[in-house]
Amino acid sequence: MPWPQNTPPQRDGDAAAGIEVTDDFERFSQRNDIFTRAFWDKRVKSKHTMKFFSSYRMEAAPRRGDGFSQRDFALRNAAWLISDVVSGRRAQEGIREGFQAAIRPDTPVAKEALEIDNPARMSAEVKRIAKFFGADLCGITDLDERWIYTARVDTRDMSEAPHDLPEGLTSVIVLGHEMDKELVATYPSALAGAATGREYSHEAAIVMQFAAYIRNLGYEAVPSMNDTGLVIPFAVKAGLGEYARNQMVITPEFGPRLRFSKIFTNLPLTHDAPQPQGVKAFCDICTKCADACPVKALPYGPPSTVTANVSAIKGVRKWTSNAEKCFPFWAKMASDCAICMRVCPFNRDYSKRRNRLWLNLALGPMRKLALRLAAKHGQRRKPAEWWGKA
Ligand code: SF4
Ligand code: SF4
Repeated sequence: MPWPQNTPPQRDGDAAAGIEVTDDFERFSQRNDIFTRAFWDKRVKSKHTMKFFSSYRMEAAPRRGDGFSQRDFALRNAAWLISDVVSGRRAQEGIREGFQAAIRPDTPVAKEALEIDNPARMSAEVKRIAKFFGADLCGITDLDERWIYTARVDTRDMSEAPHDLPEGLTSVIVLGHEMDKELVATYPSALAGAATGREYSHEAAIVMQFAAYIRNLGYEAVPSMNDTGLVIPFAVKAGLGEYARNQMVITPEFGPRLRFSKIFTNLPLTHDAPQPQGVKAFCDICTKCADACPVKALPYGPPSTVTANVSAIKGVRKWTSNAEKCFPFWAKMASDCAICMRVCPFNRDYSKRRNRLWLNLALGPMRKLALRLAAKHGQRRKPAEWWGKA
């Protein structure tokens, strides 16, 4: 059944939490994401983008002083290792698992399915298991097909290929993985990229183990990282946080300082709902991320449906970055950038009482005061300090 008949209606909370679909909506083709375009589109592909990808092997990693020394790249590349092992194991078939195709399950579905007569209890159990495997957050939502890519990418020639998802999937379990605060404080640097790589490696292990658990219960489960669908709208729908100007989901537990993974399943589960708490109202008066972006890739003004190029989904009113400005900056640095995460006033350690008090201010009518209090927030820490050398 074609869009839009096959999809559940938008609930009020989806829009209030930052996901507002308009009549011009079109599902996104992963072939158009900026990382995939870097391999086939001459508007994006350059000597810098190819060097960016090869820098994840030490012999191709450039050395440029503090934050970009051999030990910085060494830590970053080592942090990515488990993710790389998983994503590379079917490269010969054009399947880049976890990035341009779903992770292929390693466990068969048990012939006999556990009887589940209470989906709410099962959902609570799923969240407990998520914690057991090492996820920091877990929410559950329906498999809303709007956010599934139109196709996966065959990495042999970057063409579109079918997802091959099993029939009858109904739910998405969305997992959040906290990034290391001390490393994030050193963005931009190759050292900071270790915070990203470590969570991708965690994600890979956790979604594979989690899917194996569900499959042993006798239900379908497809482990997924950046592949198959856009995780941000699923995270918002699962009530984990709100969409923000910096293109990230702001959560009450970690602000924007986390990554998300997901599992598609037909396990009988109840679904969470979006939880708008006031992040959008704060972003309406704050532009710290857009101001700090070195290449001005982030938008000012209110959310809109304007898109700069094909790497943005069409027909969603939201803050949308210009990926054609953002990714070349990563490529020139030979590492990922998350300055817009580092400077965000919500990027805090919420185990501290003063930060929880700040959050209460930021999400209420005193948000202007909270913004003033955050004037010096998010200063860069020298990578050498992280190594204990400064
Ligand atoms: S990741 Fe860096 S370049 Fe990209 S939008 Fe954020 S601050 Fe700008
Ligand atoms: S820096 Fe400010 S505008 Fe940007 S996401 Fe954070 S709160 Fe929103």
